[in-house]
Amino acid sequence: MIKINQNFLKLKASYLFVDIAQRVVAFQKANPDRRVIKLGIGDVTEPLPEAVLSAFHAGVDEMADRATFRGYGPEQGYPFLRERIALTDFQQRGADISADEIFLSDGSKCDTGNFQELFSLEAKVAVPDPVYPVYVDTNVMGGRTGPYRDGRYEGLVYLECRPDNGYIPDLPEESVDLIYLCFPNNPTGVMATREQLRQFVDLARREKAIILYDAAYCAFIRDESLPHSIYEIPGAREVAIEFRSLSKNAGFTGTRCAYTVVPKGVTAADEEGNEVELHHLWMSRQSRKFNGLSYPVQRAASAVYTEDGQKQVRALTDFYLNNAKLIRRNILRLGFDCVGGDNSPYIWVNMERDSWTAFDLLLNEAGVVSTPGDGFGKCGKGHIRLSAFNSYENVEAAMERIARVL
Ligand code: PLP
Repeated sequence: MIKINQNFLKLKASYLFVDIAQRVVAFQKANPDRRVIKLGIGDVTEPLPEAVLSAFHAGVDEMADRATFRGYGPEQGYPFLRERIALTDFQQRGADISADEIFLSDGSKCDTGNFQELFSLEAKVAVPDPVYPVYVDTNVMGGRTGPYRDGRYEGLVYLECRPDNGYIPDLPEESVDLIYLCFPNNPTGVMATREQLRQFVDLARREKAIILYDAAYCAFIRDESLPHSIYEIPGAREVAIEFRSLSKNAGFTGTRCAYTVVPKGVTAADEEGNEVELHHLWMSRQSRKFNGLSYPVQRAASAVYTEDGQKQVRALTDFYLNNAKLIRRNILRLGFDCVGGDNSPYIWVNMERDSWTAFDLLLNEAGVVSTPGDGFGKCGKGHIRLSAFNSYENVEAAMERIARVL
């Protein structure tokens, strides 16, 4: 009989969001008159910006006319969008990235998950703890780990993000080949300084390691001294891949558009020790396994980079950041330590008690859904994540309720 990829069986059952959903259903059943406010999930609530919407409609109309209809597009994405991205997101910020180094995709989840395919199974992988689970699980499925024991997979290097290091991971103490970083971070909401990123870039250059830098939330950065892209750090072009998404800035979680930057010149060794360009490998991978994004979506995405689009996206992120500020202020006033929420839509609260106890307290007493931190890793114990993706009124009501129970 054909055999399965045994690595899939190593995946720990994903109890987190199932458990949360079950507890919310049970609460609602027992309290049919109580309105639950959800500050758990990281999904946007506001509709697509006006500029995006009209470009989307125009793109659909073009598909209805033989003269403007488009079939398969370039796997890497249409140049009209890649050129705007290169200019706006990188060149105008002093980062030397060109359009042909940008690969459009239908999500950063897929890209951050798929990119590990390019590396050998012997690659030593470092991930932050707490972590966006995709980085870990795709390495497990790929066969780069041992079994899951005591909250961690054997073979991975966990970079701990704790209160005493400000939730910014320390540099790995052992030699690693692949380092996942995510800033502004999900779940903690913290942002690394230029200097902190420089240390990672320098380490990667010294060790000939690669950094996979997930900047899905960079549109929420308001402190202008902070880098929006890892390519603002000298030398990063040689060692870093950056992932960006339109999900959280422009409301594309349901529409789907993201991109990955693979600078020419980032290399890894083959078995003979020759340097191979990752740009070439990713191009090979994408052209064989991916067929591009729909034309109307690329039209819609390109509207994000117009003057109106940029203003509207800024207004959207300002809206969520205003919610985040309200959450942060209230949590601090209640005497709990928290990080995030200033350059990020997430607030990471140190509840100084078991995550699930804190979750149950907020759900059962306040009717507010959070995310228990230990679902993101061992270092998440004692914490909860609150998300600013909701209406201002709901966030206000949630904070009043939380204040009554804490
Ligand atoms: N990276 C991080 C850190 C995220 O939190 C998310 C979504 O929540 C993603 C990537 C996925 O983004 P996309 O919607 O582009 O797949």
